[in-house]
Amino acid sequence: MKKIIIANWKMQLSLKESLELAKQADKKIDGKKNRVVLCPDFSALPFVGSAIKSGALELGAQNSAMDARGAYTGEVSPVNLKALGVKFVILGHSERREYLHENSGIINLKIKAALKQGLVPVVCVGEKLTVKKSGETEAYLSRELGHTLKGVKIKKASDLIIAYEPIWAISTNKNARPMSAADADAIHGFIAATAARILKNPVSVLYGGSVNIVNAGEFLSQKNIGGLLVGGASLKIKDFSHICSL
Ligand code: PEP
Repeated sequence: MKKIIIANWKMQLSLKESLELAKQADKKIDGKKNRVVLCPDFSALPFVGSAIKSGALELGAQNSAMDARGAYTGEVSPVNLKALGVKFVILGHSERREYLHENSGIINLKIKAALKQGLVPVVCVGEKLTVKKSGETEAYLSRELGHTLKGVKIKKASDLIIAYEPIWAISTNKNARPMSAADADAIHGFIAATAARILKNPVSVLYGGSVNIVNAGEFLSQKNIGGLLVGGASLKIKDFSHICSL
């Protein structure tokens, strides 16, 4: 089965830059080795959607609302995302948990609302450096997965993806460093088993955190790692197209 590589462009690009990057990605990435998903910000979705013509790239969003319709000022409906051709939606990213105070309860509702529209939630989990240092990573991840996925029902394994992003490894965080591929593989095995118990389905678990052209191949070759969520390196077309070909 192909692994999946998801580009998280965050809020780093102008509309013009998003369109240009999407055009280049469409030219350079053939999707033969891995499935590849581009997640621009909301405003760029229609432009990026119309630029990816080759069929090798898929479209994702970086968030969606906890309901299909309603009085939620500033939110974006999963129904409208679906209508724009979006297939995947990143939910529960640590930046939203930290800066926008999204807790696991809110993320849980967002996951259920996305699933109802047939979007594939890419559910992010990960521990802070203090948790890692205290040796409580597994207990923390068990709790976070339990709360975030509570009552979530999927019909098949491909309906939902987990992304493990240790917060201390995300490149924009101070003193960030990538996890070793062997450590990542072990923790992915733990997350996969925990998520499978909750969801009663064996979902894929992606790795995210300072992935680059040097370390991507090693992560992708681990058996418990189902693919990558890539931030900084997804903004450089040469690096990202290389990562997607591994
Ligand atoms: C992210 O924040 O989703 C991420 C993976 O970022 P980076 O690759 O830049 O560490």
